[in-house]
Amino acid sequence: MKNYFAESLWSPQGWTRGARLAVAAGRIAAAADGHGERLGRCVLPGMPNLHSHAFQRAMAGLAEKQTNSSDSFWTWRETMYAFAGRIGPEDLQAIAAQLYVEMLEAGYTQVCEFHYLHHQPDGKRYADPAAMSLALIEAAREAGIGLTLLPTLYMTGGFDGRPLSERQRRFGFDVDGYLSLLQQLVNVENAALRIGVALHSLRAVPEKAMREVLAAELTRGMPVHVHIAEQIGEVQDCLALRNARPVEWLLDNLPVDARWCLVHATHMSAQETQRLAQSGAVAGLCPTTEANLGDGLFPLKAYIDENGALGIGSDSHISVSPVEELRWLEYGQRLATRHRNIAVSVANHSVGETLFAAALRGGAQAAGVGVGAIAADARADFIVLDDDSALLAGRDEASLIDTFLFAGNANLVRHVMVGGDWVVRDFRHRDRERIAARYRATVERLAARV
Ligand code: ZN
Repeated sequence: MKNYFAESLWSPQGWTRGARLAVAAGRIAAAADGHGERLGRCVLPGMPNLHSHAFQRAMAGLAEKQTNSSDSFWTWRETMYAFAGRIGPEDLQAIAAQLYVEMLEAGYTQVCEFHYLHHQPDGKRYADPAAMSLALIEAAREAGIGLTLLPTLYMTGGFDGRPLSERQRRFGFDVDGYLSLLQQLVNVENAALRIGVALHSLRAVPEKAMREVLAAELTRGMPVHVHIAEQIGEVQDCLALRNARPVEWLLDNLPVDARWCLVHATHMSAQETQRLAQSGAVAGLCPTTEANLGDGLFPLKAYIDENGALGIGSDSHISVSPVEELRWLEYGQRLATRHRNIAVSVANHSVGETLFAAALRGGAQAAGVGVGAIAADARADFIVLDDDSALLAGRDEASLIDTFLFAGNANLVRHVMVGGDWVVRDFRHRDRERIAARYRATVERLAARV
Protein backbone atom coordinates (compact mmCIF):
# COMPACT_ATOMS: atom_id res chain seq x y z
CA MET A 1 0.00 0.00 0.00
CA LYS A 2 1.34 3.43 -0.97
CA ASN A 3 -0.18 6.73 0.21
CA TYR A 4 -0.37 9.97 -1.78
CA PHE A 5 -1.57 13.50 -1.14
CA ALA A 6 -2.95 16.10 -3.59
CA GLU A 7 -4.00 19.69 -2.85
CA SER A 8 -6.80 19.47 -5.40
CA LEU A 9 -8.10 16.29 -6.92
CA TRP A 10 -10.79 16.28 -9.60
CA SER A 11 -12.95 13.36 -10.67
CA PRO A 12 -16.26 13.51 -12.59
CA GLN A 13 -18.04 13.86 -9.22
CA GLY A 14 -16.21 17.14 -8.57
CA TRP A 15 -13.25 18.52 -6.63
CA THR A 16 -11.76 17.18 -3.42
CA ARG A 17 -9.42 19.52 -1.57
CA GLY A 18 -6.60 17.97 0.45
CA ALA A 19 -7.21 14.53 -1.02
CA ARG A 20 -5.49 11.47 0.38
CA LEU A 21 -5.13 8.50 -1.91
CA ALA A 22 -4.03 4.97 -1.23
CA VAL A 23 -2.90 2.67 -4.02
CA ALA A 24 -2.68 -1.07 -3.48
CA ALA A 25 -2.18 -3.81 -6.09
CA GLY A 26 -2.64 -1.29 -8.89
CA ARG A 27 -6.01 0.00 -7.65
CA ILE A 28 -7.30 2.90 -5.60
CA ALA A 29 -7.95 1.57 -2.08
CA ALA A 30 -10.96 2.69 -0.07
CA ALA A 31 -9.19 4.79 2.55
CA ALA A 32 -5.80 6.30 3.21
CA ASP A 33 -4.03 7.29 6.42
CA GLY A 34 -1.21 9.70 7.04
CA HIS A 35 0.20 12.31 4.75
CA GLY A 36 1.78 10.27 2.00
CA GLU A 37 3.87 11.47 -0.91
CA ARG A 38 2.82 14.82 -2.33
CA LEU A 39 1.65 14.45 -5.95
CA GLY A 40 1.10 18.08 -6.93
CA ARG A 41 -1.48 20.81 -6.87
CA CYS A 42 -3.87 19.32 -9.44
CA VAL A 43 -4.55 15.61 -9.98
CA LEU A 44 -7.00 14.31 -12.61
CA PRO A 45 -8.01 10.86 -13.85
CA GLY A 46 -6.15 9.48 -16.89
CA MET A 47 -8.11 9.77 -20.13
CA PRO A 48 -9.21 6.70 -22.14
CA ASN A 49 -8.59 6.97 -25.88
CA LEU A 50 -11.49 5.08 -27.43
CA HIS A 51 -10.36 4.84 -31.05
CA SER A 52 -6.92 4.09 -32.46
CA HIS A 53 -5.44 2.58 -35.63
CA ALA A 54 -1.86 2.45 -34.36
CA PHE A 55 -0.10 1.88 -37.70
CA GLN A 56 -1.46 5.18 -39.05
CA ARG A 57 0.80 7.06 -36.62
CA ALA A 58 3.71 6.40 -39.00
CA MET A 59 1.97 8.08 -41.97
CA ALA A 60 0.81 11.23 -40.15
CA GLY A 61 1.79 14.15 -42.36
CA LEU A 62 2.22 12.08 -45.55
CA ALA A 63 -1.23 12.83 -46.99
CA GLU A 64 -1.35 16.61 -46.84
CA LYS A 65 -0.54 17.38 -50.50
CA GLN A 66 -3.36 17.94 -52.97
CA THR A 67 -3.47 15.18 -55.59
CA ASN A 68 -6.63 16.46 -57.25
CA SER A 69 -9.15 19.20 -56.52
CA SER A 70 -11.67 16.72 -55.09
CA ASP A 71 -9.33 15.11 -52.50
CA SER A 72 -11.40 13.43 -49.82
CA PHE A 73 -11.48 10.62 -47.31
CA TRP A 74 -11.43 8.20 -50.24
CA THR A 75 -8.16 9.54 -51.75
CA TRP A 76 -6.59 9.60 -48.25
CA ARG A 77 -7.60 5.95 -47.89
CA GLU A 78 -5.48 5.02 -50.96
CA THR A 79 -2.38 6.55 -49.32
CA MET A 80 -3.23 4.72 -46.10
CA TYR A 81 -3.64 1.37 -47.91
CA ALA A 82 -0.29 1.80 -49.70
CA PHE A 83 1.41 2.46 -46.37
CA ALA A 84 -0.39 -0.38 -44.57
CA GLY A 85 0.86 -2.79 -47.23
CA ARG A 86 4.44 -2.48 -45.99
CA ILE A 87 3.96 -3.13 -42.28
CA GLY A 88 4.79 -6.47 -40.61
CA PRO A 89 4.46 -7.54 -36.95
CA GLU A 90 7.80 -6.13 -35.78
CA ASP A 91 7.14 -2.84 -37.55
CA LEU A 92 3.69 -2.64 -36.00
CA GLN A 93 5.08 -3.22 -32.51
CA ALA A 94 7.71 -0.49 -32.99
CA ILE A 95 5.15 2.02 -34.32
CA ALA A 96 2.49 1.21 -31.71
CA ALA A 97 4.95 1.39 -28.79
CA GLN A 98 6.06 4.86 -29.89
CA LEU A 99 2.43 5.95 -30.27
CA TYR A 100 1.53 4.61 -26.83
CA VAL A 101 4.48 6.46 -25.25
CA GLU A 102 3.18 9.66 -26.87
CA MET A 103 -0.33 8.92 -25.62
CA LEU A 104 0.88 8.42 -22.06
CA GLU A 105 2.93 11.63 -22.12
CA ALA A 106 -0.22 13.44 -23.30
CA GLY A 107 -2.38 11.99 -20.48
CA TYR A 108 -4.12 9.00 -22.11
CA THR A 109 -3.87 5.91 -19.89
CA GLN A 110 -6.06 3.42 -21.81
CA VAL A 111 -6.40 2.86 -25.55
CA CYS A 112 -9.01 1.02 -27.62
CA GLU A 113 -7.17 -0.41 -30.62
CA PHE A 114 -9.52 -0.95 -33.59
CA HIS A 115 -7.28 -3.44 -35.31
CA TYR A 116 -7.85 -4.76 -38.83
CA LEU A 117 -4.29 -5.24 -40.17
CA HIS A 118 -4.47 -8.98 -39.56
CA HIS A 119 -2.63 -10.88 -42.31
CA GLN A 120 0.39 -10.68 -44.59
CA PRO A 121 0.15 -8.03 -47.33
CA ASP A 122 -0.99 -10.60 -49.92
CA GLY A 123 -3.75 -11.87 -47.62
CA LYS A 124 -1.93 -15.07 -46.49
CA ARG A 125 -2.21 -15.87 -42.79
CA TYR A 126 0.87 -15.48 -40.61
CA ALA A 127 2.07 -18.77 -39.06
CA ASP A 128 0.31 -17.54 -35.94
CA PRO A 129 -2.91 -15.87 -37.19
CA ALA A 130 -2.78 -13.60 -34.12
CA ALA A 131 0.75 -12.31 -34.91
CA MET A 132 -0.32 -8.72 -35.56
CA SER A 133 -2.68 -8.64 -32.55
CA LEU A 134 0.10 -9.96 -30.32
CA ALA A 135 2.43 -7.23 -31.63
CA LEU A 136 -0.05 -4.63 -30.36
CA ILE A 137 -0.39 -6.37 -27.01
CA GLU A 138 3.38 -6.43 -26.64
CA ALA A 139 3.65 -2.73 -27.58
CA ALA A 140 1.08 -1.78 -24.93
CA ARG A 141 2.91 -3.89 -22.33
CA GLU A 142 6.25 -2.25 -23.16
CA ALA A 143 4.75 1.24 -22.93
CA GLY A 144 2.65 0.48 -19.85
CA ILE A 145 -0.71 1.68 -21.21
CA GLY A 146 -4.01 -0.15 -20.61
CA LEU A 147 -5.23 -1.82 -23.83
CA THR A 148 -8.69 -2.73 -25.04
CA LEU A 149 -7.85 -4.73 -28.16
CA LEU A 150 -10.69 -4.81 -30.67
CA PRO A 151 -9.81 -7.27 -33.44
CA THR A 152 -11.88 -6.13 -36.38
CA LEU A 153 -14.13 -8.18 -38.63
CA TYR A 154 -13.76 -7.00 -42.23
CA MET A 155 -15.39 -9.09 -44.99
CA THR A 156 -16.63 -7.08 -47.97
CA GLY A 157 -15.56 -4.09 -50.05
CA GLY A 158 -18.93 -2.30 -50.09
CA PHE A 159 -22.63 -2.32 -49.16
CA ASP A 160 -23.31 -4.44 -52.26
CA GLY A 161 -21.21 -7.27 -50.81
CA ARG A 162 -18.40 -7.02 -53.39
CA PRO A 163 -15.22 -8.92 -52.48
CA LEU A 164 -12.26 -7.20 -50.84
CA SER A 165 -9.89 -5.38 -53.18
CA GLU A 166 -6.29 -6.53 -53.45
CA ARG A 167 -5.21 -3.93 -50.89
CA GLN A 168 -7.96 -4.94 -48.47
CA ARG A 169 -7.14 -8.66 -48.52
CA ARG A 170 -4.95 -8.55 -45.45
CA PHE A 171 -7.91 -7.26 -43.42
CA GLY A 172 -10.27 -10.14 -44.25
CA PHE A 173 -11.67 -12.84 -41.95
CA ASP A 174 -14.70 -15.10 -42.15
CA VAL A 175 -16.82 -15.41 -39.01
CA ASP A 176 -15.25 -18.70 -37.86
CA GLY A 177 -11.69 -17.46 -38.33
CA TYR A 178 -12.60 -14.25 -36.54
CA LEU A 179 -14.13 -16.00 -33.54
CA SER A 180 -11.13 -18.29 -33.18
CA LEU A 181 -8.82 -15.25 -33.18
CA LEU A 182 -10.99 -13.69 -30.44
CA GLN A 183 -10.85 -16.93 -28.42
CA GLN A 184 -7.05 -17.08 -28.67
CA LEU A 185 -6.80 -13.49 -27.43
CA VAL A 186 -9.34 -13.87 -24.62
CA ASN A 187 -7.06 -16.58 -23.25
CA VAL A 188 -4.36 -13.97 -22.58
CA GLU A 189 -6.60 -11.26 -21.05
CA ASN A 190 -5.31 -9.65 -17.82
CA ALA A 191 -5.71 -6.49 -15.71
CA ALA A 192 -4.11 -4.37 -18.45
CA LEU A 193 -5.69 -6.17 -21.43
CA ARG A 194 -9.36 -6.42 -22.35
CA ILE A 195 -10.61 -7.98 -25.59
CA GLY A 196 -13.68 -6.69 -27.43
CA VAL A 197 -15.45 -6.90 -30.78
CA ALA A 198 -15.09 -4.49 -33.68
CA LEU A 199 -17.31 -4.69 -36.75
CA HIS A 200 -15.47 -2.55 -39.27
CA SER A 201 -18.49 -0.79 -40.77
CA LEU A 202 -21.86 -1.50 -42.35
CA ARG A 203 -20.15 -1.59 -45.76
CA ALA A 204 -17.51 -4.14 -44.66
CA VAL A 205 -19.58 -6.61 -42.58
CA PRO A 206 -22.82 -8.19 -43.87
CA GLU A 207 -25.82 -8.18 -41.52
CA LYS A 208 -25.81 -11.98 -41.19
CA ALA A 209 -22.18 -12.01 -40.03
CA MET A 210 -22.85 -9.24 -37.49
CA ARG A 211 -25.66 -11.32 -36.02
CA GLU A 212 -23.51 -14.47 -35.89
CA VAL A 213 -20.68 -12.72 -34.05
CA LEU A 214 -23.03 -11.07 -31.54
CA ALA A 215 -24.86 -14.39 -30.93
CA ALA A 216 -21.64 -16.26 -30.06
CA GLU A 217 -21.32 -17.10 -26.36
CA LEU A 218 -17.71 -15.83 -26.48
CA THR A 219 -18.71 -12.23 -27.30
CA ARG A 220 -21.33 -11.90 -24.56
CA GLY A 221 -20.56 -8.86 -22.38
CA MET A 222 -17.71 -7.64 -24.61
CA PRO A 223 -17.52 -4.03 -25.80
CA VAL A 224 -18.73 -3.74 -29.43
CA HIS A 225 -17.31 -0.99 -31.65
CA VAL A 226 -18.31 -0.03 -35.19
CA HIS A 227 -17.37 2.77 -37.62
CA ILE A 228 -20.54 4.50 -38.73
CA ALA A 229 -21.83 7.50 -40.71
CA GLU A 230 -18.39 9.08 -41.09
CA GLN A 231 -18.95 10.00 -44.73
CA ILE A 232 -21.90 11.28 -46.77
CA GLY A 233 -21.07 8.63 -49.41
CA GLU A 234 -21.75 5.94 -46.80
CA VAL A 235 -25.11 7.51 -45.92
CA GLN A 236 -26.08 7.61 -49.61
CA ASP A 237 -25.06 3.98 -50.24
CA CYS A 238 -26.93 2.81 -47.14
CA LEU A 239 -30.08 4.72 -48.15
CA ALA A 240 -29.89 3.30 -51.67
CA LEU A 241 -29.34 -0.33 -50.65
CA ARG A 242 -31.04 -0.60 -47.26
CA ASN A 243 -33.55 2.21 -47.45
CA ALA A 244 -32.33 3.65 -44.14
CA ARG A 245 -29.59 5.94 -42.90
CA PRO A 246 -26.62 4.07 -41.26
CA VAL A 247 -27.30 4.92 -37.60
CA GLU A 248 -31.05 4.46 -38.14
CA TRP A 249 -30.41 1.04 -39.72
CA LEU A 250 -28.12 -0.05 -36.89
CA LEU A 251 -30.57 1.03 -34.17
CA ASP A 252 -33.47 -0.69 -35.98
CA ASN A 253 -31.68 -3.97 -36.65
CA LEU A 254 -29.13 -4.71 -33.92
CA PRO A 255 -29.33 -4.69 -30.09
CA VAL A 256 -27.43 -1.40 -29.63
CA ASP A 257 -26.98 -0.64 -25.92
CA ALA A 258 -24.36 0.55 -23.42
CA ARG A 259 -21.84 -2.07 -24.65
CA TRP A 260 -21.66 -0.33 -28.01
CA CYS A 261 -19.41 2.44 -29.28
CA LEU A 262 -20.46 4.06 -32.55
CA VAL A 263 -17.30 5.63 -33.92
CA HIS A 264 -17.81 9.01 -35.65
CA ALA A 265 -21.64 8.95 -36.03
CA THR A 266 -21.06 12.27 -37.80
CA HIS A 267 -24.00 12.33 -40.17
CA MET A 268 -27.21 11.84 -38.20
CA SER A 269 -30.72 13.26 -38.51
CA ALA A 270 -32.29 14.89 -35.42
CA GLN A 271 -34.16 11.68 -34.79
CA GLU A 272 -31.07 9.48 -35.06
CA THR A 273 -29.21 11.82 -32.67
CA GLN A 274 -31.97 11.49 -30.09
CA ARG A 275 -32.28 7.72 -30.52
CA LEU A 276 -28.51 7.16 -30.25
CA ALA A 277 -28.41 9.20 -27.02
CA GLN A 278 -31.29 7.17 -25.59
CA SER A 279 -29.68 3.83 -26.53
CA GLY A 280 -26.95 4.30 -23.90
CA ALA A 281 -24.23 3.63 -26.51
CA VAL A 282 -21.14 5.82 -26.65
CA ALA A 283 -20.51 8.14 -29.60
CA GLY A 284 -16.78 7.75 -30.38
CA LEU A 285 -15.68 11.20 -31.51
CA CYS A 286 -12.32 11.84 -33.16
CA PRO A 287 -12.38 15.59 -33.84
CA THR A 288 -8.81 16.10 -35.14
CA THR A 289 -9.03 13.14 -37.54
CA GLU A 290 -12.56 14.11 -38.61
CA ALA A 291 -11.26 17.63 -39.33
CA ASN A 292 -8.15 16.32 -41.11
CA LEU A 293 -10.24 14.01 -43.32
CA GLY A 294 -12.97 16.58 -43.98
CA ASP A 295 -15.66 14.30 -42.54
CA GLY A 296 -18.10 16.81 -41.08
CA LEU A 297 -19.33 17.95 -37.65
CA PHE A 298 -21.04 15.82 -35.03
CA PRO A 299 -24.35 17.28 -33.71
CA LEU A 300 -22.82 17.86 -30.27
CA LYS A 301 -25.31 20.29 -28.71
CA ALA A 302 -28.41 18.24 -29.51
CA TYR A 303 -26.65 15.06 -28.34
CA ILE A 304 -25.53 16.56 -25.00
CA ASP A 305 -29.01 17.97 -24.45
CA GLU A 306 -30.31 14.37 -24.70
CA ASN A 307 -27.65 13.18 -22.20
CA GLY A 308 -25.88 11.13 -24.84
CA ALA A 309 -22.64 9.34 -23.84
CA LEU A 310 -19.46 10.32 -25.69
CA GLY A 311 -15.73 9.75 -25.65
CA ILE A 312 -12.70 10.79 -27.69
CA GLY A 313 -10.22 8.96 -29.87
CA SER A 314 -7.12 10.02 -31.76
CA ASP A 315 -7.98 7.58 -34.59
CA SER A 316 -5.43 8.37 -37.37
CA HIS A 317 -3.06 10.08 -34.86
CA ILE A 318 -2.64 13.23 -36.88
CA SER A 319 -2.62 14.59 -33.31
CA VAL A 320 -2.09 12.68 -30.05
CA SER A 321 -3.57 14.85 -27.31
CA PRO A 322 -6.81 14.73 -25.31
CA VAL A 323 -6.51 18.51 -24.95
CA GLU A 324 -6.56 19.03 -28.70
CA GLU A 325 -9.42 16.56 -29.27
CA LEU A 326 -11.64 18.25 -26.70
CA ARG A 327 -10.63 21.74 -27.81
CA TRP A 328 -11.56 20.97 -31.42
CA LEU A 329 -14.75 19.24 -30.40
CA GLU A 330 -15.90 22.55 -28.90
CA TYR A 331 -14.29 24.85 -31.50
CA GLY A 332 -15.97 23.07 -34.43
CA GLN A 333 -19.32 23.88 -32.85
CA ARG A 334 -18.35 27.51 -32.17
CA LEU A 335 -17.24 28.02 -35.78
CA ALA A 336 -20.42 26.47 -37.15
CA THR A 337 -22.86 28.28 -34.83
CA ARG A 338 -21.00 31.57 -34.24
CA HIS A 339 -21.63 31.15 -30.52
CA ARG A 340 -19.35 30.43 -27.57
CA ASN A 341 -19.43 27.88 -24.73
CA ILE A 342 -21.57 25.21 -26.41
CA ALA A 343 -20.75 21.97 -24.54
CA VAL A 344 -22.28 22.62 -21.12
CA SER A 345 -25.00 20.92 -19.13
CA VAL A 346 -27.71 22.20 -16.81
CA ALA A 347 -25.61 21.03 -13.87
CA ASN A 348 -22.25 22.42 -15.01
CA HIS A 349 -21.55 25.59 -17.02
CA SER A 350 -17.82 24.93 -17.42
CA VAL A 351 -17.10 23.68 -20.96
CA GLY A 352 -13.82 22.13 -19.84
CA GLU A 353 -15.31 20.19 -16.93
CA THR A 354 -18.36 19.11 -18.96
CA LEU A 355 -16.25 17.75 -21.82
CA PHE A 356 -13.51 16.23 -19.66
CA ALA A 357 -16.05 14.43 -17.46
CA ALA A 358 -18.06 13.19 -20.45
CA ALA A 359 -14.95 11.86 -22.24
CA LEU A 360 -13.71 10.08 -19.10
CA ARG A 361 -17.05 8.40 -18.48
CA GLY A 362 -17.78 7.49 -22.10
CA GLY A 363 -14.18 6.43 -22.77
CA ALA A 364 -14.17 4.03 -19.81
CA GLN A 365 -17.55 2.63 -20.87
CA ALA A 366 -16.34 2.05 -24.43
CA ALA A 367 -13.11 0.46 -23.18
CA GLY A 368 -15.02 -1.90 -20.91
CA VAL A 369 -12.67 -1.33 -17.96
CA GLY A 370 -12.91 0.37 -14.55
CA VAL A 371 -10.98 3.55 -15.35
CA GLY A 372 -11.89 7.21 -15.89
CA ALA A 373 -12.44 8.16 -12.24
CA ILE A 374 -10.30 8.39 -9.12
CA ALA A 375 -12.57 6.34 -6.91
CA ALA A 376 -12.37 3.29 -4.68
CA ASP A 377 -11.51 0.13 -6.60
CA ALA A 378 -10.85 1.92 -9.90
CA ARG A 379 -7.52 1.13 -11.55
CA ALA A 380 -4.96 3.61 -10.19
CA ASP A 381 -4.67 5.77 -13.33
CA PHE A 382 -4.11 9.46 -12.87
CA ILE A 383 -2.27 12.46 -14.22
CA VAL A 384 -0.59 15.28 -12.31
CA LEU A 385 -0.51 18.72 -13.94
CA ASP A 386 2.65 20.84 -13.88
CA ASP A 387 2.79 22.95 -10.70
CA ASP A 388 5.44 25.19 -12.26
CA SER A 389 3.45 26.13 -15.35
CA ALA A 390 2.84 29.86 -15.74
CA LEU A 391 -0.44 28.99 -17.48
CA LEU A 392 -1.90 27.70 -14.22
CA ALA A 393 -0.81 30.70 -12.12
CA GLY A 394 -3.71 32.35 -10.33
CA ARG A 395 -6.16 29.63 -11.38
CA ASP A 396 -8.41 28.22 -8.69
CA GLU A 397 -10.43 25.02 -8.90
CA ALA A 398 -13.27 26.73 -10.77
CA SER A 399 -11.04 27.44 -13.77
CA LEU A 400 -8.27 24.81 -13.64
CA ILE A 401 -9.77 22.37 -16.14
CA ASP A 402 -10.95 25.12 -18.51
CA THR A 403 -7.38 26.47 -18.49
CA PHE A 404 -5.88 22.99 -18.98
CA LEU A 405 -8.06 22.38 -22.06
CA PHE A 406 -8.27 25.80 -23.69
CA ALA A 407 -5.12 27.80 -22.86
CA GLY A 408 -1.69 27.61 -24.49
CA ASN A 409 0.15 24.82 -26.28
CA ALA A 410 2.60 23.53 -23.69
CA ASN A 411 1.84 20.03 -22.41
CA LEU A 412 0.79 20.46 -18.77
CA VAL A 413 0.81 16.71 -18.00
CA ARG A 414 3.84 16.25 -15.77
CA HIS A 415 3.43 12.81 -14.18
CA VAL A 416 1.29 9.85 -15.25
CA MET A 417 0.43 6.72 -13.27
CA VAL A 418 -1.16 3.61 -14.83
CA GLY A 419 -2.26 0.71 -12.65
CA GLY A 420 -0.13 1.97 -9.74
CA ASP A 421 3.08 2.38 -11.83
CA TRP A 422 4.66 5.72 -12.71
CA VAL A 423 5.06 5.52 -16.48
CA VAL A 424 5.74 9.23 -16.99
CA ARG A 425 7.79 11.36 -14.59
CA ASP A 426 8.59 15.03 -15.27
CA PHE A 427 7.07 14.83 -18.78
CA ARG A 428 9.22 11.86 -19.86
CA HIS A 429 8.13 8.29 -20.38
CA ARG A 430 10.40 5.84 -18.52
CA ASP A 431 11.48 4.10 -21.76
CA ARG A 432 11.17 7.00 -24.17
CA GLU A 433 14.67 6.92 -25.74
CA ARG A 434 14.80 3.20 -26.56
CA ILE A 435 11.30 3.12 -28.02
CA ALA A 436 11.87 6.29 -30.07
CA ALA A 437 15.17 4.99 -31.50
CA ARG A 438 13.52 1.75 -32.62
CA TYR A 439 10.59 3.70 -34.12
CA ARG A 440 12.95 5.97 -36.06
CA ALA A 441 14.83 3.00 -37.55
CA THR A 442 11.54 1.30 -38.45
CA VAL A 443 9.97 4.29 -40.19
CA GLU A 444 13.17 5.05 -42.10
CA ARG A 445 13.20 1.45 -43.34
CA LEU A 446 9.51 1.61 -44.32
CA ALA A 447 10.00 4.91 -46.15
CA ALA A 448 12.86 3.36 -48.14
CA ARG A 449 10.51 0.61 -49.33
CA VAL A 450 8.24 3.02 -51.30
ZN1 ZN B 1 -11.28 4.48 -37.43
